[in-house]
This record gives sequence, structure tokens and C-alpha cells, in this order.
Amino acid sequence: MTDHNSAIQVTVWNENRHEKKNPKVAAIYPQGIHGAIAAALSAESGLAVRTATLDEPEHGLTQAVLDGTDVLIWWGHMAHHDVRDEIVERVKKRVHAGMGLIVLHSGHYSKIFKALMGTACSLKWRESTDKERLWVVNPAHPVAAGLPGHFELPFEEMYGEPFAIPAPDELVFISWFTGGEVFRSGAAWQRGCGRVFYFRPGHETYPTYHDANIQRVIANAVRWARPAANLADIHPPRPEACAPLEPLPPDPGAAERPAIGHR
Ligand code: ZN
Repeated sequence: MTDHNSAIQVTVWNENRHEKKNPKVAAIYPQGIHGAIAAALSAESGLAVRTATLDEPEHGLTQAVLDGTDVLIWWGHMAHHDVRDEIVERVKKRVHAGMGLIVLHSGHYSKIFKALMGTACSLKWRESTDKERLWVVNPAHPVAAGLPGHFELPFEEMYGEPFAIPAPDELVFISWFTGGEVFRSGAAWQRGCGRVFYFRPGHETYPTYHDANIQRVIANAVRWARPAANLADIHPPRPEACAPLEPLPPDPGAAERPAIGHR
């Protein structure tokens, strides 16, 4: 069982490419987007935070790192295709086994998000002078704890519907933009034993991850997405033959079938 008194192990993953190529982004995020998110989370109680980036060996996501991660945060955009498929598969298996995953902004088009959703995950977008207003549509949800009924980001990239995702298990935020579009900007799913939360804001040329409300959402999402238990222990990784709990009536076909455990 996961010890709920122990710190939640958080890994903040970022492709960290815009920061290296665009001085405007580097000025907003001198420690990288991952550094800004990690700094905000480190100020929270009960979280142990580390970072990982695309250019590290195995993208910083070795099996040991993932096995020690309760919640993984993902920011990617221009380098989705540089993420190796075997690492995506490794992350997906950890989510199925119970690890939480928080996908941010342009991560909607990452290999891992598309693999977990099973849909195109496409959307409409515009990089202009839109304001974003986020409405809390499920104020009782743990991810909305401590937030006002709505809050704004003075400038953000617009994402508009239709957002090609499977219907969320839970919807927490809907965004409105100056240009008139709306978007399901905070959505939750369970995949296997793991919880997945998508949170829309965070275009790299705006200081979105320095915003207190945005930091509150991400911290809430981390606490919400932590594994409920060590579910890898109780969730079989593959179909397994199962002995009955009670005696069964005589089975005339038993001789033709392999014994339990030999399938
Ligand atoms: Zn963007």
C-alpha cells in the first residue's frame, strides 16, 4: 500500500526546447518551464519534486525514475516526435499500474497523451491577443480546491473546440477566450489504475506557470492523481487463469483443457 503520510514523489518532465531556441521564452522561464513548475510545487507541503528533460539519457525517464514517481507532469510541443516510442510505452505501463499523469497545454498532441486517449486529440488554436477566462464547472472536485468560481489569464494562446478527446470521466474547467471560442480546459480520466488530468493553459511565450491560480491547479492535480494504492500488486499485468473460490460441479471437459496456470 502507498503510505499516504509519505511525500508524493513528483517528476516534472519538459522537452525544454523552446527555452533553448527562443530568448523570449528563456526570459520568462530562465530555469525552464519544468524549473518554474518544480519551484512552485516545491513550495507545497508533502511533495518531493524532481525534473527530467528530453535530452537526458532515456529522456530522464528510466525505469527506476518512473518506478519512484507517483505523479508525472508532462510539457511538450515542438519535439513530440523526438520522444522515443519505447519510453512512451514505459510511461503508459506505469500509468496503467497506478502512476498519475498530468498533461499540460500542447502536451495534448504528445505521443503519451494520444496513446492513453486513443483519439486524435486535435483542436483549434490561435496565437494572438486573446484573454482566457477559466470557469470552474465542478467546484466540488479536488482539483478545484481553493480556487475562485472563475479566473483569468490576461494573454494566452487560444485553444478551441472540438477537442478530439474521449468524453472525460470528469470535467473541472471550461475556458472562454476573447475571440469567442470555448474549450474543455481541465479534464480527468482513469486509464488502468492511473489517473490522468489534462490542463490547458501554458503557452511558452506567456508567464502562465508563474500565475498563482495555475500553480494551485497543478498542485491540486498532483494530490488528486497520486496512486490510491500500490495497484501494480493487485492488478494483473496480463490475463491470468483463476482457481475457483468455491467447489464447482463436475467438469466433463476438463481433460481437454490445460491446467490452470499453464495457459
Ligand atoms: Zn502553445
